[in-house]
Amino acid sequence: MIFWSFFASAALTAPIPNPEPLITRFAPAPTGFLHLGHVLNAIYVWDIARASGPDARVLLRIEDHDRARSRPEYEAALLEDLQWLGFAADGELTRQSERGALYERALEHLRGRGLTYACECSRMEIGSGRYPGTCRDKHLDESGGAGIRVRLGPMRERFDDLRLGPQEQVPSDQCGDLLVRDRHGNWTYQFAAVVDDWLQNVNLVIRGEDLLDSTGRQIQLARLLGRAQPPMFLHHELLMKSPTQKLSKSDGDTGVRDLRERGWTAEAVIDRATSLAGLSRDDVRFRTRMTRRP
Ligand SMILES: [Zn+2]
Repeated sequence: MIFWSFFASAALTAPIPNPEPLITRFAPAPTGFLHLGHVLNAIYVWDIARASGPDARVLLRIEDHDRARSRPEYEAALLEDLQWLGFAADGELTRQSERGALYERALEHLRGRGLTYACECSRMEIGSGRYPGTCRDKHLDESGGAGIRVRLGPMRERFDDLRLGPQEQVPSDQCGDLLVRDRHGNWTYQFAAVVDDWLQNVNLVIRGEDLLDSTGRQIQLARLLGRAQPPMFLHHELLMKSPTQKLSKSDGDTGVRDLRERGWTAEAVIDRATSLAGLSRDDVRFRTRMTRRP
């Protein structure tokens, strides 16, 4: 296996095992404008892909699985801002809203193995905690406006995060049986992302630390779907307002659109994203150069 090191002063703790070819993705949801958190993610995604060799690919996936919140004008703005920043994807973009037949086939596979059941619980009834399995043995009819869940076993999932090191999660304790499709017919983020990563042969998922808790359940779901080898994962730092407070839209100065309108250059926006992440100016120059195509 070939190994390569990320630049010396970066936050990564370990060399990255480099599958041939490396396939990663940038996968924004068109539910708002591009902000500095996306920019940091894009820097990681494109830098790692470009540094890993000429055959590495960055796929662009529009995660518009939530039909109520996704808007074409946000998608258009995301694409335009990405281009302005200098991030060019490899190949055609994909939209989750156009992949329903693939998700349906993946669901059918789980159903055929007796792993799914209908769930009539509302989000309000469940709250934000673990789903306790209320509908597991109710044998409800899927067609009556019910959601669909997949049964998770009590397995412990272990994975080696490329930045954070060895991790252990027990999804059945963390979240309970996973919602695959909600009561309104929307495919869930967890399901659509896992199916897409599998079908698109994504072998490195690069995303923010706020999604670290989702990883064990995604690895388990991928295995239930039949994926032999789960992708590798790298969870990067989030942009912080202070050591304990995550930067949010309400803090202002985070939207790429707003910064552009105020005359910022692409380099300055990339600089801002990396400095908020605690990375050095030298890294910024290196990254900026790396992410630009001739
Ligand atoms: Zn239920």
